[in-house]
Parts: sequence; structure tokens; C-alpha cells
Amino acid sequence: MRWNEDFIEEVRVRNDILDVVSGYVRLKRNGGSYFGLCPFHNEKTPSFSVTPSKQMFYCFGCHRGGNVINFVMEYENYTFSEAVAHLAERVGMQVPENESTSAERAADYLKQRLLEIYKKTGQFYYRALHSPVGKKGYEYLRGRGLTDETIRRFGLGYAPVLPKDQSLYAYLKNEGYTDDELKKSALFRFTEKGVSEFFWNRVMFPILNERNKAIAFGGRVMGDGEPKYLNSQETVVFEKSRTLYGLHEARRAREGYLLLCEGYMDVISLHQAGFNNSVAALGTAFNERHCMILRRYTNEVILTFDSDGAGQDAAKRAIPFLKDAGIMIRVLDMKPYKDPDEFIKNLGADAFRERIKNAKNSFLFEIDMMRKAADLSDPAKKTQFEKSVATKLMEFSDELERNNYTEAVCREFSIDIGSMKRTIASMAAQGYKVPEQTKPVSHPSRSQREEEAREKALNAQKVLLTWISEKPSLYAKIEDLITAEDFTDPIYAKVAAEVFTQAKNGEVQPAQIMSRFTGETENANRIAELFNTKLEHAEGSDLVRAFEEVVRRVKEDGLNNLAKTATSVSVIQSIMKQRSRLAKWKCDTLE
Ligand SMILES: [Zn+2]
Repeated sequence: MRWNEDFIEEVRVRNDILDVVSGYVRLKRNGGSYFGLCPFHNEKTPSFSVTPSKQMFYCFGCHRGGNVINFVMEYENYTFSEAVAHLAERVGMQVPENESTSAERAADYLKQRLLEIYKKTGQFYYRALHSPVGKKGYEYLRGRGLTDETIRRFGLGYAPVLPKDQSLYAYLKNEGYTDDELKKSALFRFTEKGVSEFFWNRVMFPILNERNKAIAFGGRVMGDGEPKYLNSQETVVFEKSRTLYGLHEARRAREGYLLLCEGYMDVISLHQAGFNNSVAALGTAFNERHCMILRRYTNEVILTFDSDGAGQDAAKRAIPFLKDAGIMIRVLDMKPYKDPDEFIKNLGADAFRERIKNAKNSFLFEIDMMRKAADLSDPAKKTQFEKSVATKLMEFSDELERNNYTEAVCREFSIDIGSMKRTIASMAAQGYKVPEQTKPVSHPSRSQREEEAREKALNAQKVLLTWISEKPSLYAKIEDLITAEDFTDPIYAKVAAEVFTQAKNGEVQPAQIMSRFTGETENANRIAELFNTKLEHAEGSDLVRAFEEVVRRVKEDGLNNLAKTATSVSVIQSIMKQRSRLAKWKCDTLE
């Protein structure tokens, strides 16, 4: 046991799930539920649901689900205790002593110690930057045009080379951190020869999480050392693919779009110029996880990558990820300058704002990349280019959209619109289809068939639990027939026992039941599914029959399962008795 159950239950009840989730996801009402784009997987049409009557969320796409505590755990990457504490604070409740298990306590404790270490390290680097040992770092930053205010705001610092007794290691040891903690902080290298610092002779950029806490560092070498930029290795509090530099500020910007740029310096100079809605991925190539995070804050991203070849290639790679996440993309043209910093220094913030306004739709950007790769002075290659443009235009399944883009592309690249339209029409007439991956056809093997049967059995169990929790009065119809033991999956059986007890009292509270299984997210998702399985689309007498069929299936599977291991005569007799009862059982009405 951690906190006592009553406390957890009160936290849950006082944090209405619709209220909490609405703070993160845009939701639209549809019947008794609210739907929105799932924050946990890429999708363009909403399959993420919140049902206030159940106090549950559930995604029909990726099958994540749970109550309000599970949601916060998943979304904020919190431990169970962190999520409960966060929600308790949200409604102004006093948080009592945590009684979590020792493993959880240890994990929570380590995270908290690491955050302290990074905070102190950030201060150490900041002090060094402002002392004689950090002079060249400070001069470098000022030379790049950063103000003291910006340096302070981003907590920039310097990793100095100091005598052993004044080093970062000595400082943190003196502050009471153990070697084990310092090892896990990834700020040091522990070898047989001793301890050395991961960062030295570098200007330091603390990497903050969305909640404004330093979770790692990036450093730019002073002079010609390699690599030029170095990031902390991943730790229990730092996942590169989950982190965007500058997001702690950008998330609060209310511009309606975010600027995605290449590195820390871009983000910092943009913020300094008043564009505090800019972020950057860290070293690792921009990926799907980053998109999931971006989508929480915006549905439009403007790519602000360097105008050199590498930057343009990076932009081209980022586009499909953003597209899949349903984010609108435009690409900023910074020519003749290389990056935002250079642009703003030369032309000023207003000119930059103007470029943002005129940023090209990513489709036109992609065509532009194709055009650059082709040699249009050669007529054969020009035809080839126009064909590829037509192919690309075929990707728009909506005709109106396709027409709009056709016109825009032809205008932009001086292509004859009549001939382009003819090419597209002839491709469409020839039945051209945007290539899709085809799945190999296979015949189900024996184990596959067994798997399918098991799926069907589990599905019936899920449907029955959803049904009873939505209409507890139905429990009276099956009370004499079905018991929790009929549920073949151990977790389902446990949930069934809870559902049946609550149903007897007239009301089932799925979210409360969820709280009993606070262990792993995996279980939470499976349990959430139990309360959100779609019922057959049947009405009237068909619905009664559907209910009967589900009940029979659950009972039969339960008995078959029991029969497999039954050895004693009394158990076998009981199975026979139950089988004959099932044969006679009938349900006349669901009322
Ligand atoms: Zn999902």
C-alpha cells in the first residue's frame, strides 16, 4: 500500500476527468462522451474519448485508457505518486506522508536527487561563467549578441577546468550527493583512473523540461574541440526524443504556431528577438515522439531550419512526421541568410515576422526541393519533373484541395496549368493510385486459430463488463449464472468481482475500480478497455439476443477453462450442473 485508498479516491473524485483532460486535449462532445485527437499516438481523426459518466478516458486507436490518475501519469511521464500528488495539489488538498513501496520510493527519490543535482550544477556553471575562469565563455556569448538578461533567463553557464578540490565533482560531493547518484546523473565519467567531468571547456545550456526543471545539459566547445555540440547522455529523467529545447517558454506563447529550429542558439536568439514560441529538437533527428509533444500545444509548425543543404534536408525529413501527426507545416525562407540569428541581426525582427507571414506551405517546399534536384534546361528532364509534380498532386484525394494546389504549384513554378491538369486527368483515368503497402496473404495456422478463439473469448468478457457497468440493473439477470471465476484472464476476473459487487448496489464506477490497480500502465490500459468495449449495433430483440450470446460465450469459455484442469469428482459434477443451468438460461428482456 502507498497512500491509503480513501485519500487516493478523494483525489480522484475531486479531479473531474473532463476538466483535467480538457486542460491538455481539445475535446468535442459526441453523445455521452467527448472526443479529441489522441495525445499518445499519431492520428488525424479523433479516436480518443473521455466519458464523464465513467470518469474514464479511452483511445479506440492505441487502446490506452484509464482514470484521471492514469492520464496524468501517461501524459506527464509521472510515477503514480507524482501523479496523485500533482492532482491533490491541483484541487488544494494536503498531501499526507507517502506510503509507497520501497522500490517506488527509491525511484522517486533518485529522480528528485537528480533534479537537485542539475539545479545545483546549473548554478555552478552560471557562477563560473561570471568568474575569471569563465571569461572566454562569457565573451563568446556576448559576442554572439546575447544580452545579460538572455543569459540569465536561459541560465547559460560555463563548464570550467578547475583544480580537483574546486571542481564540480568536489562541490556536489560536498553537497552530500553519493557517487552512485553522480554516476546516474551522467555528468561524470567513472573509470579505474578516477572521476572526470563529462563537460569541460564548454559554454553550457541547461535543458529544461516542460515544468521548468533542468534535466540535462548541452555544451558548445570553446575553440576547435570536437564535437562542437555535446548533449548529456540519457538518464531516468532525460529522454532525448521526448524533449524539445525551449518548450518550457514556448508552451506558454499564444501565437497559434510554433517555430521549429535546429539548435539551442537559434532558439535563444529567437526568444531574445521576441519570438518566444520557438523550440528545437536535441541532436537526435526529429521524430514521431517530438510531434506528439508539439501537437499538445499547436496545430501549426513553421520549419525554421538553416537554409544550407543540411538544414533543408533536415526540414525535408521532418515533414512526413509532422504530416502524420496532422500538424500543418510551413517552411520559412531565410535566404540570403543562413539561420534565424544571422537573419535577424541583418534585417531585424520585423522583417523576420514578415517572412513568417509569407512562409511557404510545405507542399510547395517539397516541390521546390524536387525542382532544385532536376535540371530544367533539359526538356526531357523538365517533362520528368512535371510528371513527378503530377504524381505528388495525386496524393490529395480531395479534388478541391488538389485543384487549389495544382493552381498554386503551376503559378509558383511557371508550369502550364492546362497541361498539368491534362496529365493529372490522364493519370486518374488510368487508375493511378497512391502506392500503398500490401500485406502478404497468409493462411491461419493452428496456433493462430487458437489465438483467434482466445481473442473472441476475451472480447465477450470485455463486452459483458462494459455492458454491466453501463447498465448495472442487468446484473440481476446473470447473478445466478456468471461469477468472476468465469473470466479466464486473471485481471478480468479481479475487475469482474469488483464490477459485480458494485452492480449489486446499483451503480458501477469504473474509475474507482481502476484505482485498485494502480501498478503498471499496461494493466491500466487493459482495464480501461474492459469498460470501453463497443457493444454490438443491435436494437430491440436483437439486442437481447446479443446479450444472451455474450453471456453464453463467457460462461461456456469459463466452464471449458475449468474443465481443462478439473480432477476432483465434485468439481466435475459442479461443471455438469452449471452446463445444464446454462442450457436452460434465457433472457426475455433487458429492462
Ligand atoms: Zn491513442
